[in-house]
Amino acid sequence: MSEKRDIKSYNLIELQQTLAQMGLPKFRAAQIYKWLQVQGVTSFDEMTNLSKDLRKSLSEIFLIRSAKIERKLVSDIDDTVKYLFSLCDGETVESVLMKYKYGYSICVSTQVGCKMGCKFCASTLNGCVRNLTASEILSQIHAAANDTGVRISHVVLMGMGEPLDNYENVMRFLELVSDDNGLNISARNISLSTCGIVPKIKELEQKRLQITLSVSLHAPNDAIRSAIMPVNHKWNVDTLLAACRSYAATTSRRISFEYAMIAGVNDSDACAKELGQKLKGMLAHVNLIPVNNVKENSFHKSGKSRIEAFTEILKTYGVNATVRRTLGADINASCGQLRRSAAEVGADKEVSS
Ligand code: SAH
Repeated sequence: MSEKRDIKSYNLIELQQTLAQMGLPKFRAAQIYKWLQVQGVTSFDEMTNLSKDLRKSLSEIFLIRSAKIERKLVSDIDDTVKYLFSLCDGETVESVLMKYKYGYSICVSTQVGCKMGCKFCASTLNGCVRNLTASEILSQIHAAANDTGVRISHVVLMGMGEPLDNYENVMRFLELVSDDNGLNISARNISLSTCGIVPKIKELEQKRLQITLSVSLHAPNDAIRSAIMPVNHKWNVDTLLAACRSYAATTSRRISFEYAMIAGVNDSDACAKELGQKLKGMLAHVNLIPVNNVKENSFHKSGKSRIEAFTEILKTYGVNATVRRTLGADINASCGQLRRSAAEVGADKEVSS
């Protein structure tokens, strides 16, 4: 891997300081920052307001980490676009671009793979290969925006990886993506999803960001949650919910709980009642998601009427719940699956060549 420095992960002040050491004035740093952060260029040669010599010197010292489109699937149903991107070392990650009434939202990955081991999730099947840098998380947005020409106004950190297991890079990403000299995506339009790494939730709470914290709860008690989410052995449901209550109180931001509805596992009336009891009175919203089939496991989604009954029970506890609309159903848009199928294709090729 290159020893060159990752220029797109610098914030403006750091870039100014670094470039000042090369004798460059502040306005040059601002120009370069704009090329990197707003235009999302992938080479110094695209920085047409810099001299050729300067572009050359920069490229000798710095690397622009980018995301190259390896595969692209467009849904016939709703225009959802799923990308498989390759990074500078050849590793791949997935992103999904979705169109909503309020604009375009992108779901980005924060790690190559994931080590959290949730039983229903395709991203974690082969563990975590590495963390993404802030620039690589940003590059997924740049690549999708430059490919489609749309303005992306919302970001969800719900792709491959556990964002709070890559805390420093994700914090830097949040700083850069919301910078008004950069993409200027408001923190209120950003959601970070976690499987429940409690010490990091507490650290994030202290930052008092205006982002939405999504918590992948998926079960109302330790018996069920520990069976499907190994992280629960470390921080159990009560510990997690206590951290969530504190987070909501400090930030005045509503917590969004993700709850994948898995037939016969976590979708009974008793589960709904237990969940209702535990979330009652909390500044929270529950997103019920019919679990996506992953071919390596045997989980199946709950039926429509089961999900409706579950929602009704939660309502009797005053807990707000909605069923998440499925986008990109025809392109396997849930994360982790495209990378796996590409890896399989790659493996087949190797065998046959
Ligand atoms: N690691 C983070 C973010 C990535 S996963 C987290 O756990 O929150 C994004 C969301 O997709 C999480 O809520 C995760 O539990 C959910 N998910 C993973 N596999 C799924 C599947 N097969 N069906 C439905 N949701 C799934």
